[in-house]
Amino acid sequence: MWSCTVLGHRFRFSSEGAEMRWVCERGCGAGGSKHYPDADSARRYAAAFDLEDRASLGRRAPLLGLLPLRLWRAASDKRLHR
Ligand SMILES: [Zn+2]
Repeated sequence: MWSCTVLGHRFRFSSEGAEMRWVCERGCGAGGSKHYPDADSARRYAAAFDLEDRASLGRRAPLLGLLPLRLWRAASDKRLHR
């Protein structure tokens, strides 16, 4: 999946009993699981990781949004100096 290569996987975290599981939201097949001593820890870690992944996604998005503007500026600069 090209978007996973460019943007990184978009993992969603969940817990099932004492097991925390994560799987890529785009369905590329990436994912994993980790066993915790109790169900409460698994649930807490899953919630924390899910939140962290969403926050990092928000940090990456503005950079990508600025790219077309930079390209446009670079192109108009070239026109001016011709
Ligand atoms: Zn992926």
